[in-house]
Amino acid sequence: MRVLLALGGNAMTNAAGRAAPQDQIAAAAVAMEAVAGLLERDVEVLITHGNGPQVGNLLTKNELAASVVPPVPLDWCGAQTQATVGFVLMNALDAALVRRGIRRRTAAVVTRTLVASDDSGFIRPTKPIGRHLPAEEAEVLIGHGQTWEDRGKGWRRVVASPEPLDIIDGPVVRSLVEAGFVVVANGGGGIPVVREPDGSLRGIEAVIDKDLGAALLADTVGADVLVIGTDVPHAVLNYGTPDAKDVGTVTAGQLRAFAAEGHFASGSMGPKVEAACRFVERGGTRAVITDLDHIATAVCGDAGTVVVAS
Ligand code: ADP
Ligand code: MG
Repeated sequence: MRVLLALGGNAMTNAAGRAAPQDQIAAAAVAMEAVAGLLERDVEVLITHGNGPQVGNLLTKNELAASVVPPVPLDWCGAQTQATVGFVLMNALDAALVRRGIRRRTAAVVTRTLVASDDSGFIRPTKPIGRHLPAEEAEVLIGHGQTWEDRGKGWRRVVASPEPLDIIDGPVVRSLVEAGFVVVANGGGGIPVVREPDGSLRGIEAVIDKDLGAALLADTVGADVLVIGTDVPHAVLNYGTPDAKDVGTVTAGQLRAFAAEGHFASGSMGPKVEAACRFVERGGTRAVITDLDHIATAVCGDAGTVVVAS
């Protein structure tokens, strides 16, 4: 069985969302214990991950150091975080494998994902990134061509969140998986690139949704199961109300009907539900949304919100 595990931000930060190096190392150790447990059962595992807190830290450094070191664009931040998170996850997984006496090699792939230069997201950016700034500071950055919005508690940069169309480096990832490597790939949804008229690729300042990127990667590498690991054990109907109800096993059709009724928030659970539905609709056996404690049960037994084709 081939499984793609998509780790959310909480798998790489402390409980308060802080992403200091020691927080990321400690969180990765917990998540990779679960992965080592799966590898012990002969499940083939690939890993992808979010990078919101890590990119947020890089953007703050860019802003503070702009007069000394030239700021790097958002696609570079994506590439940098794929490398550092990949490195941290590889070290954590290697340690967990050695403890179990499992001889498997790990690899991390800098992964580019194609988006359309005319994606509607570029006309009306919606994805908030980085920290809140006072209006005067935001104005300077608006002057540099960025889009910032008044979010009440300060101004925040918003960027396009275009649809992932093709994982450019998917064939490399697949080859490594087939050669027996445990691969970390497409972190942060992939580094968004557009195709130029001459066929070359150019990185672009945007953020691909990590879960939608995961659904496409799972499809690209022929995964049987997509596990979306987050900080809640289930997707929930009437979330946060007295009528809250966990979603157990559902078909993609049923889950889409719940989504249409507005049960899943657009910036958080919504894309996970969409990713799970897409994956099974494109032929995946099943997708599971659950928390880190239930990853192993989600793959080998019954836990979380399980989405099946019919
Ligand atoms: P990650 O960083 O793991 O990608 P997110 O924070 O983006 O996770 O999404 C998970 C969060 O979604 C949960 O912590 C929860 O607060 C929120 N959420 C919103 N709507 C729902 C819902 N209907 N069911 C469960 N969680 C929900
Ligand atoms: Mg999150």
